[in-house]
Parts: sequence; C-alpha cells; structure tokens
Amino acid sequence: DQTKNEERILMQRIDATAISEEELSKQLQRPSQKSSDAILKIVLPIVDEVRKGGDKALLSYTHKFEKATSLTSPVLKAPFPKELMDLSEETIRAIDTSFNNIKTFHAAQREEKPLSVETMPGVVCGRFTRPIERVGLYVPGGTAVLPSTALMLGVPAMVAGCEKIVLASPPRADGSISPEIVYAAHKVGAESIVLAGGAQAVAAMAYGTESVTKVDKILGPGNQFVTAAKMHVSNDTNAGVSIDMPAGPSEVLVIADEDSNPAFVASDLLSQAEHGVDSQVILLAVGLTEEKLQAIETQVHEQALRLPRVDIVRGCIKHSVTVQVKSLDDAMRISNEYAPEHLILQIKDADKVVDKVMNAGSVFIGEWTPESVGDYSAGVNHSLPTYGFAKQYSGVNLGSFVKHITCSNLTSDGLRNVGSAVMQLAKVEQLEAHRRAVEIRLNYLDMK
Ligand code: NAD
Repeated sequence: DQTKNEERILMQRIDATAISEEELSKQLQRPSQKSSDAILKIVLPIVDEVRKGGDKALLSYTHKFEKATSLTSPVLKAPFPKELMDLSEETIRAIDTSFNNIKTFHAAQREEKPLSVETMPGVVCGRFTRPIERVGLYVPGGTAVLPSTALMLGVPAMVAGCEKIVLASPPRADGSISPEIVYAAHKVGAESIVLAGGAQAVAAMAYGTESVTKVDKILGPGNQFVTAAKMHVSNDTNAGVSIDMPAGPSEVLVIADEDSNPAFVASDLLSQAEHGVDSQVILLAVGLTEEKLQAIETQVHEQALRLPRVDIVRGCIKHSVTVQVKSLDDAMRISNEYAPEHLILQIKDADKVVDKVMNAGSVFIGEWTPESVGDYSAGVNHSLPTYGFAKQYSGVNLGSFVKHITCSNLTSDGLRNVGSAVMQLAKVEQLEAHRRAVEIRLNYLDMK
C-alpha cells in the first residue's frame, strides 16, 4: 500500500518540563510573515492607482489578478438577480440556519438601554450607540469560496443597523461571483458587491470610485496584500476609514487531558491545519500517557491521509507542535501567553476551566464542541484575532459596527457642584477660556 510508505504526518513533540520558558516560547513562535516592506512595495502603487483612477484602474487589476477579462463593471448592485443565487435546497437551508443563529447571538449583544448615570447631584453622564453608516466587508476569494465569512461580517452589520453594507470579493475568471456569496449578501441586505479582491478592492472601498460606495470602516480577513492595504488606508487621514484588526493565518490551540478522545483531538487539529501551510496548530497535552499521545499521533496521521487537502496539512504540521505539560495550570499559562485565535478545551469539566482563560479569540468547550461549529453555524463569530493579537483585540462582534457616543447633561445645581473642580483644573492647564466658560455661568446664577 503506497500510503503506508508515505512520510509520517507527525507534530514535533516538546517536553515543556525539560526546557526553559524562553526556549518554549521560541518553539511556539508563529511562522514568520513575508516582510511588510516587500508587501507594501506592491500594495502602495495599487492603492494609489485605484484612488486616482477609480473604476478603470480597479477593473484593470481585476483583469490582471483574477484573469476576469470579460468583466466590464466592477460592481453588482442590489437587488441581485435570482439566477445569480441558484443554490441547492441543502445549501440554502445551511446558510439560513447559520444566518439565524448568528443573528440571534449578535442581536443579544445589543445594548438596549442607553446608559445614564448621575455622577454627582445634577451631573448626568450618558452613553448611547449609533451604527457606523457605511461598512465595507472583505470576503476572501483567492483560493476558496467563503460564504461563511460573508455571513460573519454581514449579519452583525445588518443587526447593528448599518445603512450601507458593501461586500467585496474577487470574482472568478469568468467574471462571476459564487452564488453562495451573492445569496449571503442578499440575506444581509448588502447594497452592492464589489467584484474585486486584494489591495485594489480595499482601496476602492476606502476612497470610493465612480461606482463603488466609499465606506467608513473596512472589515474582514484576507491575505497579506489585503491586510497591508487595510493598514495603509486606515493610516491615511484623507481616506477617513478605520479597520477591524490585523489578520494573519488561522491557528488553533487544543488542550487535551487523559479524558479526551484521540480521534476528536486529531480532527480538531486537522480542521485548522487544512486552512493553509502558514496556519499553526498546537496541542497542549496535560499529563498524557505515552499510549494516549501515540493514539492521538496515529489519528492525526491516518485522518490526514484521507483528507483532500493532505498536502496543505503536511506543510502546516511541519511547524506545529505537541507540548507535554504536567498540569492544567501549566497549560493555561502557556495558552494565555500564546493567545490563540481558537482555543479548544478537550478536558474533564471543561466548562469550569473557562474562568482561567485570559487571552483567546474564541473558546470551544468540551468534546462535543468542535471548532467547525463556531466557524459556520453555532452563532459565534469566526472573524477572530490571530498572531497573538487576542491579547488586546476582540473578534468581530456587534460592537465592531457601532460607535459609542457619550453625553452630559447638567442642571444649574450640577454645575455648582462640579464647577470648582473644572475651574481649578483649567487653571492648572492654563486654559483660561475653559475656566471662564464655567465662571460666566456661575456668576450668572449668583446674580439671579
Ligand atoms: P484573498 O481574497 O485574500 O486575496 C486574493 C487577492 O490577492 C487577489 O484578488 C489579488 O488581488 C491579490 N493578490 C494575489 N497575488 C498578488 C500579487 N502577487 N500581487 C498583488 N496582489 C496579489 O484570498 P487568498 O489569497 O485566498 O487569501 C485568503 C486569506 O484569508 C488566507 O490567508 C486565509 O487564511 C485568510 N482567511 C482568514 C479567515 C479568518 O477568519 N481569520 C477566514 C477566511 C480566510
């Protein structure tokens, strides 16, 4: 049997008890990304040309990169023709189920009541939310069809009440866009689909063109060209556009103990490993016996060989590791330091351990919760911080599509109560007009 002769698909083992913390963190480094300078050199001229040249420049890049030379208009406006959403009943049902769950979970994140607090008698501070008016959602399309990403970005935008939802995704070589994405765009009420990818799509949405609506915020994952373009336009004050977060290759960290099912553990590692050769998967093995470890390794190898994307898995597994740790506390410390995009807890009483999670994009609790449910249909968002950014960023959520606006409302007594503090601090900062804005009112009150 030829497959038996193939090189074993095996994650390197590291015994965390035998090496220093520094050595371990070196081993857990993410695969390095291409230098951002090299990427920027490619991206900046593209952004510049689209900013200046509009539709014509946008189209020419789509002709070049997507080979969609027959495309004559870069935008598909809603309402989208039914024939572009020709899908099987099964796919429609799956998209509808996922849509409903994502909607339910994100609608629950609404802050129904504006905040209102009296910080001192007569001094009322409030906060209310307003949707970001126009959002641009990038749905990657280079190597895969990703209707799930269209839902994960589009549904919260719809729930938040964003007035204009613009989707962008690279078209296929024949100029068409996958019907799943068109259907998702239709469900979330998108106003248009920009048929473009990469830096050119980002630039078109950031600056607007004759036919692409300029947006206020751009969200969504993408390759390094997309990410570099997002970072660049968000730094350009003339664009007036913000972005969600830096995105990098996907990753998972699985914590497994003696209770775990080797086949389940392996399947979770592989479902991340098939994303791309630059993805990383890590297994933290908590006090596992040699027998259990080998059972997991055998499962990884055997399941991987049966996957259509086995070659991608091979590439990913090369820089993925199994770390043997003594205790759950050790595992949680390492996991919190790594700050994984996805954290899977395949351990006894997993729900009791969630309290110890300090840094992670999204957590999957217990053996019946594979990451795939969160990727597609459970309701949680799958647009999550990678590359350790879970230390300071949240994944996409309803809050990503709104602004919080604060307000204050004082009575005359309120101004009397807080006025002396304001005047004193204004004096310290030597901002006399500030001080007088209070004084003039207090004098007026005294005269009454
Ligand atoms: P993509 O849509 O991000 O990029 C395709 C575009 O890249 C093309 O349209 C083209 O414009 C541009 N491009 C390609 N080669 C170029 C070159 N040499 N010069 C300039 N521009 C070039 O699709 P992709 O490439 O398949 O990447 C998808 C990415 O999204 C992957 O890295 C994947 O891991 C990531 N992803 C992440 C998540 C998440 O939630 N974290 C979800 C889905 C996908």
